[in-house]
Amino acid sequence: MAWFIIFISIIIVFVMLFRYLRKREMEAFREADMSVFEDFKAKREKKLVDPIELKAKAFLASGGAKKSMTATLSAQESSQPNESAYVLKKDLFDEVHRLFYENLERVAGKKFRIFVSVPLHEFIRTGPDKGNEPGLRGKHVSFLLCNKNAMTVACGIQLRGAGSDPDRQFNFLKELFRQIEKPLLDFPLVSNISEAEIRENLQDIFAESDLARSCPRCGREMMMRKAIKGKNAGKKFWVCTEFPSCKGITRIGRFS
Ligand SMILES: [Zn+2]
Repeated sequence: MAWFIIFISIIIVFVMLFRYLRKREMEAFREADMSVFEDFKAKREKKLVDPIELKAKAFLASGGAKKSMTATLSAQESSQPNESAYVLKKDLFDEVHRLFYENLERVAGKKFRIFVSVPLHEFIRTGPDKGNEPGLRGKHVSFLLCNKNAMTVACGIQLRGAGSDPDRQFNFLKELFRQIEKPLLDFPLVSNISEAEIRENLQDIFAESDLARSCPRCGREMMMRKAIKGKNAGKKFWVCTEFPSCKGITRIGRFS
């Protein structure tokens, strides 16, 4: 029995000693100057090598590289080691599109959603009579104006002059918009198109959007209806095409 008590005591002493040492260690860790560790971390990150770069170097060493690639790699090596492969541009889009967008936003931003450089296949699909017509992939329209509620296409705007064959490109777009029965406006690809000029060209689009209302509840198209009876008899309303499942109704002339 005595031996057993001694054995237990020894274990308790060990446990307490261990806990004391651990506590001391934790305190030392908390008080430590962390900059040493940070420095170590920075050094380690610098040493990490991009696997693609490694492959490229191996490729170069095997003697199969083109001169241009050698130039790119050596340029990378000579610059700062932390330079990324992708860098955020200072501005969105190119200057012409950006300036045009800013003016367009001021003119039409309240009424329309404006999308920039929209791939055609996002809002047009090829019909059954496609035949040998060229496909839509890889083609864009500079701007697309959509009705705010319904998210339906109101019109396209093309800045003419971009791309390798601008006239052919524009004629293709024109024909496409004719077929989908949506207007396509065009402006020259220059940076000094004024707000007034844009507003003047958008007159018809604004007028049309006033006629084509969208339901405030579900966003679908609305039809003009006349109340036959009740206290509003004789008055005209915009009624959702989904009526009666959707009760979206607005008085004509309520909105400007
Ligand atoms: Zn509705």
